[in-house]
Amino acid sequence: ATHPQLRSGRVISAHGLKCKVLDDQGSIYECAIRQVLKSLSIDGRSAVVAGDLVRFRGDTNIDGMIEHVEPRRGIISRTSRGQQHVLVANVDYLLIIASVAEPSLKPVLIDRFLLTASQCNVQPVLVLNKIDLVEPVSLQQLIGVYAAMGVRVLMTSAETGVGVDYLRHLIAGKQTALAGQSGVGKSSLLNAIKPGLGLAVGRVSQDNSKGRHTTTATTLIPLDDGGAVFDTPGIRQFKLWDISAEEVAGLMPDLRPYVSGCRYGNCLHLSEDDCAVKDAVADARIDARRYDAYCHLLESDLLLDE
Ligand code: GDP
Ligand code: ZN
Repeated sequence: ATHPQLRSGRVISAHGLKCKVLDDQGSIYECAIRQVLKSLSIDGRSAVVAGDLVRFRGDTNIDGMIEHVEPRRGIISRTSRGQQHVLVANVDYLLIIASVAEPSLKPVLIDRFLLTASQCNVQPVLVLNKIDLVEPVSLQQLIGVYAAMGVRVLMTSAETGVGVDYLRHLIAGKQTALAGQSGVGKSSLLNAIKPGLGLAVGRVSQDNSKGRHTTTATTLIPLDDGGAVFDTPGIRQFKLWDISAEEVAGLMPDLRPYVSGCRYGNCLHLSEDDCAVKDAVADARIDARRYDAYCHLLESDLLLDE
């Protein structure tokens, strides 16, 4: 059904029963959620999430009412105790930001975020920031492996501006979710992409409280051309709640082609005989570091709920 009398907009934040909705003129409306929509959702909190495209009744002066939520695509979610929690909807890219130094490059963390992108069916883009601090040639091997997997890799420096225009063009008109540990330069890059944004840079890390849940409210930064960046803290401490050990290799594009060649259907590719994945590692068809990362992901607590 069409609703000619309703406005269209995108939810930029959703806290409990209230949402902020941005329309295409750039106005922001405070909206409540129609009861019938809440009862439709499995878990009342996900009736409307950041990134949702909605139809709403609204006026800038008074609270509006969300009447309709468009079907979602590109959902980033986590599952906890069997319940799916959508962190952000309608995402085109998962922008994985890593720093090549200070803090040091952590390929396993990149691999873990890539797994998240695979699982959520969102296209990953890997940004290697602080490229001013190293010789780019030292990254050739790593970049080659990701490029061969079909992952787009960018090198940037928020400090010198290298790669910033390219990144701005890439995400123009797209909905982009951010991932990356504290201190890699996420705020600095956003400030460089959108002059005047003025995000605080270099704040003391709050991510050190390992295992503790910090607030995970998503905020949206509208870009000048219709696109937007979602800063979703929940992704940063992302644990792969609902991936079982048997599924991990199938979510890694460079391991996936060999999985079906294993003799046993439930092979974990660790110590089994006749393992096609291990054979491929042995003759370098699979990058040894990526295989180590795979083993690390399986052995660490990254797959476990808290
Ligand atoms: P965030 O926690 O990921 O948002 O990281 P910030 O943007 O707050 O940056 C953390 C620190 O890294 C700050 O001191 C920044 O000035 C610095 N920084 C950010 N980008 C770069 C870069 O490209 N090169 C260098 N040398 N420093 C950077
Ligand atoms: Zn195997």
